[in-house]
Amino acid sequence: MPHEPRSPFTLAAGDTLAAALRNIPLPALEIRILASHTLGLTRVQLITQADRSLTDAEANALKELVRRRLAGEPIAYIVGQREFFGLPFTVTPAVLIPRPETELLVELALERLPPNGRVLDLGTGSGAIAVAIAHQRPDANVTALDASHEALEVARGNAERNHARVSFLHSDWYSALGREIFDVIVANPPYIEKNDPHLAQGDLRFEPVDALTDHADGLSDLATIVAGAGQHLADAGWLLMEHGYDQAQAVRDLLTKQGFGKVQSWRDLADIERVSGGCLKT
Ligand code: GLN
Repeated sequence: MPHEPRSPFTLAAGDTLAAALRNIPLPALEIRILASHTLGLTRVQLITQADRSLTDAEANALKELVRRRLAGEPIAYIVGQREFFGLPFTVTPAVLIPRPETELLVELALERLPPNGRVLDLGTGSGAIAVAIAHQRPDANVTALDASHEALEVARGNAERNHARVSFLHSDWYSALGREIFDVIVANPPYIEKNDPHLAQGDLRFEPVDALTDHADGLSDLATIVAGAGQHLADAGWLLMEHGYDQAQAVRDLLTKQGFGKVQSWRDLADIERVSGGCLKT
C-alpha cells in the first residue's frame, strides 16, 4: 500500500543516533536497514553507538533515503540489495525483487536435481533462482536466460558475487536455445493479469512491469513455458513454475494437457499453492 502522507520529521546534524532513529516515521526494521546502510554500521553498532552524534553528511544522506522510502520506493532498491536463500543479491529497478516464497521453487528443484544435473532458469531476472541452485550444487550445470540485457547484467554480477557457476543467455523464453537438454527447468515468469490493481500498488509500482505481468490473462507466459518444455527436458525431467495464488489449477491443466506426469502443486509458507510442476513422461 502507498504510504500515507506523514508529518515532516526532524533529523539534523548533531542529533544523537538514538534520537535520529526515534524520529523517523517508518517501521523499526526499515529504519534499521536504512540507517545501517547509510552509516556503514551493523545492527549491533547502531545500538552500541546510539549516543554518538550524526555528521552533516550522515544526516543528509539518511534523510534522503527516508524521503525515498516515504515516497514508496522499495527498501531493496534503495539499498540495492536483498537476501534470498541466505545469499546477498544486488537488485536494481531492472529486476524483480526476489521474494521469500520463491525459495520453495529452489528447494523443489534441488530435490529433483541428479548429480551433475542440468538446470535451465527461464526469465532469471536478478539470477536469484539460478545462483541459489548453482551455489548449493557446484556440480550442477546451470543455464539462466532472460529477454532483458539489463537483467542479465545484474544476474551475472550476482553469480560472480556469490561464486556461483552459471551460464547466461539472452533469450526470449526458449528462442535462443539450440537443442540443449535439461534435467530440471524452473521459471518464475510474469504471471499477474494485466488489469490486476496490485500492479499500481506498493513495491510493484517500482518493479519492471514486464517481469510482473504478461500484459494478458496472467497465464500466457506460463502456457508458453509449458508448451516448449518438452523439447528441452531429459526423459523424466521436471518442469517447475511459480505462479499466482489462484492459478494452480490452471497451470496443472496446462501441464496435464501437454502430457506431463506426476502433475502437482506445492504450498508456500503462507499455505498458498505457489509452485506447480510435472515430469516428462518417458
Ligand atoms: N510474486 C510477485 C508478486 O505478486 C509476482 C512475480 C511474478 O509475476 N513472477 O508480487
